[in-house]
Amino acid sequence: MNIATGSNAPRANFPEGGRDWDDLAADMRARKGDDIDWQGGRSPLYVFRNDDETYEIGRRAFFEFFSENALGRKRAFHSIQSMEREVLDYGLSLFGAPDMGEGIFTSGGSESILLGMKAARDHWRTLNPGRGHGAAMNIVMPSTGHPAFDKAADLIGFDIRHSGLRPDCRADPAAMGALIDENTIAIVGSAPCFPHGVIDPIAEISALAVDAGIWLHVDACVGGWIAPFFAMNGRDIPAFDFRFPGVRSISADLHKFGFCPKPASTVFFRDSADVARSAFVADTWPTGRFETSTLVGTRPGGAVAGAWAVLNHLGSSGFREVAAKLAEMTDAYVAGIKEIEDFRMVTAPDLSIINYTSDTVDMYAVARTLSGHGWLVGQTHTPPGLHSMMSRFHEPVREEFLDHLRQSVATVRAGNGQKGSAADVTY
Ligand SMILES: *Cc1c(COP(=O)(O)O)cnc(C)c1O
Repeated sequence: MNIATGSNAPRANFPEGGRDWDDLAADMRARKGDDIDWQGGRSPLYVFRNDDETYEIGRRAFFEFFSENALGRKRAFHSIQSMEREVLDYGLSLFGAPDMGEGIFTSGGSESILLGMKAARDHWRTLNPGRGHGAAMNIVMPSTGHPAFDKAADLIGFDIRHSGLRPDCRADPAAMGALIDENTIAIVGSAPCFPHGVIDPIAEISALAVDAGIWLHVDACVGGWIAPFFAMNGRDIPAFDFRFPGVRSISADLHKFGFCPKPASTVFFRDSADVARSAFVADTWPTGRFETSTLVGTRPGGAVAGAWAVLNHLGSSGFREVAAKLAEMTDAYVAGIKEIEDFRMVTAPDLSIINYTSDTVDMYAVARTLSGHGWLVGQTHTPPGLHSMMSRFHEPVREEFLDHLRQSVATVRAGNGQKGSAADVTY
């Protein structure tokens, strides 16, 4: 038995080698047989996609730079350096950063958040000389903040104080204010939060940050690259960027609603001095000085090229068009869900991330029963509800999904559903 996995399968032997591509491809494709049909819109998370053309452009650009290592962009791969520079510039202007703003291209939201928190910690140490090391540092974050902050807390060594929400599931700035003390290195707002898909009141949280003289990080990982285009289309959603003076850093994933190939994310700072705070420098190595602004060393050149190509292909007109389509689709899903007896949105969504529930049916059982129809079901447990992050491939299957949802609800109400439990809600 494999103690780590609990599996009784024998350990795979190191391969003899010599298998050709056709053999390998056939093997890999056969393994895909059990995967969720994400192209068919059956997964409400993990994969984000615009249309076939955007996908193909990202894929091709990625493979143009398949071997290049973005770690060597300054010395060896000026192509990567110039594309990365442009992608960061696009983000700085999209988020209204002042001239002294700067960004870092990372391999994911968790890395972007870790770098933001490290910079906040080092900034706090500068403000509190002599108290930095060993002090019980904390951040204040709404309960809806992403677990990547918990990971950063564990790695960097600070506590998280979770604050409550308003009835509309947005952060409650007064509750946040009550948790701030002299050891608070940062406060956090999401734009939007993952569980309920709504943007926190960053205007008010920014005012709190300015008053208390504390770093505010806005986690726009999931929706940051698309939300501004919802707003440009006239959708009434809260603003969240550097135009609010307390916002000191923003994380935003290209590989989610930026529709760029994985792994690609960004973190932006109001002040370029903070990029140095998030950087890691080692001076004692025999090979020489080693300095990176990312957590990882080697990273794929393809991710930078893919992001550059997708952003240039879509541009603001393309993103506005996608945002309009997503808004229309979301409204149609919401209308269909609300038609089910006793069903309601946990809160009205700002983008295309929805969370809905009912007080008169066991939502865990609905989720289990719905998975029996071949859907990967996104869930929340406070409150027990269903959750979907929707991109373009969720439109063609809308009627089918709603139909299966209605059927599953009816089955559970009739007492024939599969029993589910809070333990099903694991990501
Ligand atoms: C996905 C996500 C993250 C983490 O990003 P990864 O790319 O998965 O590391 C952080 N915050 C929010 C709100 C997210 O949705």
